[in-house]
Amino acid sequence: LLSQMEKYGLGTPATRADIIEKLVSSDTIDRQGNSMHPTGKGKQLIELAAPQLRTPDLTARWEAELEHIARGQGKPEPFLESIRSMAKELVSTVKGSKAEYKPHNVSNSHCPDCNARLLEKKGKRGKFLVCPTEDCGYRRSAEKRLSNRRCAQCHKKMEIKEGKAGLYVQCLPCGITETLDKDKQHVNKRDQQKLVKQYAKQESIGSNLGELLKAAMEKKGE
Ligand SMILES: [Zn+2]
Ligand SMILES: [Zn+2]
Repeated sequence: LLSQMEKYGLGTPATRADIIEKLVSSDTIDRQGNSMHPTGKGKQLIELAAPQLRTPDLTARWEAELEHIARGQGKPEPFLESIRSMAKELVSTVKGSKAEYKPHNVSNSHCPDCNARLLEKKGKRGKFLVCPTEDCGYRRSAEKRLSNRRCAQCHKKMEIKEGKAGLYVQCLPCGITETLDKDKQHVNKRDQQKLVKQYAKQESIGSNLGELLKAAMEKKGE
């Protein structure tokens, strides 16, 4: 990729590695073994972007123009003006366009906090699911979550899954699915914290239930 960028005059020796890193961190390309591939997001971006922006020509022309100016062979003002008017035109085209971006990585799991469909992303420590809602911030690992319930047939730990009616456990190889009893569902740390937060809020309107709950939980944790 570096040599292709060099060939087409994209970036400078100082900026090329950064450009690639930016493409990786914005989830438009990803590493598969020794090579780079566009992600579903990257492929859509190429489709949605204006034709001028899909080829290396424009950037290469700009870089060449900048070189000229740096050598005192061109004037900066007309160059800046042409970029400005072009950017204006591109933005208004995008604003008027009916093309739509569809996230390629929508999972079947819902956010426990706001119920939005979670997006699947690739991190350094494997896949994870992240909530797309602004200010929500919910995220968890997308790897298998195992329950303490064992499959009646093969006795392996069953996988925790999430359906419309809530959580259930499943052994995929045996094709066995069981619902989790609501009262037996293990309350995890996150839910505990949520409960405390929820009740602590009511303190301000004259209830000290939050404090009681906090105290009760601290005692339980001892
Ligand atoms: Zn959420
Ligand atoms: Zn089984």
